[in-house]
Amino acid sequence: MDLGISGKRALVCASSKGLGLGCAEALAAEGGDLVMNARGAEALEASAQAIRDTYGVDVVTVACDVTTPEGQAMVLKAAEGVDILVNNAGGPPPGMWTDWEREDFIKALDSNMLTPIAFIKALVPGMMERGWGRVVNITSQAVRAPIPVLGLSNSARTGLTGYVAGTSRQVASKGVTINNLLPGLHATDRAVSLDTASAKQQGITIEEARAQRCAAIPVGRYGTRQEFGAACAFLCSQHAGFIVGQNVLLDGGAINLTM
Ligand code: NAP
Repeated sequence: MDLGISGKRALVCASSKGLGLGCAEALAAEGGDLVMNARGAEALEASAQAIRDTYGVDVVTVACDVTTPEGQAMVLKAAEGVDILVNNAGGPPPGMWTDWEREDFIKALDSNMLTPIAFIKALVPGMMERGWGRVVNITSQAVRAPIPVLGLSNSARTGLTGYVAGTSRQVASKGVTINNLLPGLHATDRAVSLDTASAKQQGITIEEARAQRCAAIPVGRYGTRQEFGAACAFLCSQHAGFIVGQNVLLDGGAINLTM
């Protein structure tokens, strides 16, 4: 299927690795030019060069922390006039509800709620003026089924979800769609760190912890960044113009829900 986005320009935040990289690769495969971002310059440039070599698209890199005002200003300078925005950042650490103080919540809100909102506010007006745009926010399955040890993530991502529910309906008439992609377990560095924490807590090996977690997924394995990226590219496509304000769960069936 031709997604009809060849020549469009996309900002993909936090995209040197993992799910962000999957989205960047899938958009590039459709002929989209990219602005890619991550804090670590070396991995970012390596991923960008691999995309340039494979897909022949234009890729600009901005190495900075996207959750800071300074980082956001650097990214926005490079991403002026983009047609597609994929919001992403690292997830907050796991912990206990008794441990989290105001500063921990502020940090989580900055990363996973206020940064995507800042990019939406900066870039969506231009998309509306041009009559076309796509925004995809990477959130989490925790929005549908909160994970107790990820209370900081549950809180921040639910806040973003509420904002998107209203905003997406306010901009849709101008050809701009905003949707959220909710990853379940995917085989990325983030999954390795969660497997490691689970193994340590239970006194088992990482392989045993991973097997335990896979057993709870009807598909029987973690998702891949390529599968995730393909779903993102579809939401960014010409065909997805009637999909507005949705929370699309990609979890291999792990959460037993009808809606
Ligand atoms: P990952 O494999 O650890 O990759 C994270 C990417 O984001 C890296 O490129 C990292 O590069 C970049 N990054 C992190 N913090 C950043 C920041 N402040 N500014 C700029 N770039 C930043 O993580 P992932 O698995 O792809 O997860 C992506 C998001 O999905 C996270 O919010 C995660 O919590 C959520 N999620 C993941 C899963 C899963 O199973 N993988 C499940 C549910 C939710 P640098 O470190 O160099 O900055």
